[in-house]
Amino acid sequence: MKLLDGKLVSAKIKEDIKEESAAFLASTGRRPHLVAILVGNDGASETYVASKMRNCELVGFESTNIHYPADISEEALIDKIKELNADERVDGMIVQLPLPKHIDPDRVTEAIDYRKDVDGFHPINLGRMQRNLPCFIPATPYGILLMLEYYGINTTGMHAVVVGRSNIVGSPMSILLARNTNPGNCTVTLTHSRTKNIKEEILRADIIVAAIGKKHFITADMVKEGAIVIDVGINREISNETKSGYKLYGDVDFEQVAPRSSWITPVPGGVGLMTIVGLLKNTLEAAKKSVYN
Ligand code: NDP
Repeated sequence: MKLLDGKLVSAKIKEDIKEESAAFLASTGRRPHLVAILVGNDGASETYVASKMRNCELVGFESTNIHYPADISEEALIDKIKELNADERVDGMIVQLPLPKHIDPDRVTEAIDYRKDVDGFHPINLGRMQRNLPCFIPATPYGILLMLEYYGINTTGMHAVVVGRSNIVGSPMSILLARNTNPGNCTVTLTHSRTKNIKEEILRADIIVAAIGKKHFITADMVKEGAIVIDVGINREISNETKSGYKLYGDVDFEQVAPRSSWITPVPGGVGLMTIVGLLKNTLEAAKKSVYN
């Protein structure tokens, strides 16, 4: 078993981003700028946004966090997005999900100018990704591809089983792994809560991507000997063992599964750190206008 070490890989890639960010500042007189909009007081969302902002600073980006109360109207939120779309000093913009129930996430996502959509959730970016055209790839799947690339893992010809079909992780991951490039070139099975005999499906996988949101859902008896295991899950449980007051668990039972796998990501210290890297890379590309002019 070898570890896909998000700490190591994210630190190395962030060094490169920092250099490029400094070069961008030297040539343009300004820093790449990411704006994050947070609505309401969800503890996990607040932690994720704070971490994104902290990482922007680390690599020399400018970052702005706009925090609205949970009762902001959909119209007011979309008006702000339009203002940011028109603001030349803003390169990338994200709206942290989930949103309160009275706000339609699809309307919000589509309000963002696709050229500033560094989360890669806009239908234009998703469509272009599916056709293998330049686009912003959703940060988590992008981070996973960067991790596989870093370790030189050739996925060509593998059978990939993605567990979970969300718009932000499972679905885009399945598209990316099926594309005609490496990492990719996989035969992909996309599974979800309605899949029959899910254990048998997962057992066929050479590479498993678990994005379910259920602690230790994937157990050793579901994993073929030698499989690559990518654990996206972040399940928070209150704990008095840690300073923060909670502990994170993956969707994979790491202790049990690790000895059967060829490569595996830990939680924490795996995909979560790579997601930030995906977002930073997209923001840099947005600033440099290397995807869209
Ligand atoms: P969603 O809740 O949007 O999607 C979960 C998916 O899992 C759904 O497609 C659902 O199926 C499927 N599912 C649920 N229960 C089962 C089951 N018993 N068997 C098979 N499939 C099941 O979650 P996300 O994709 O947003 O997130 C998944 C996990 O990844 C969460 O823990 C989240 O916190 C984490 N996450 C981590 C990130 C990171 O940076 N590491 C980034 C984003 C998310 P159905 O569609 O049928 O309901």
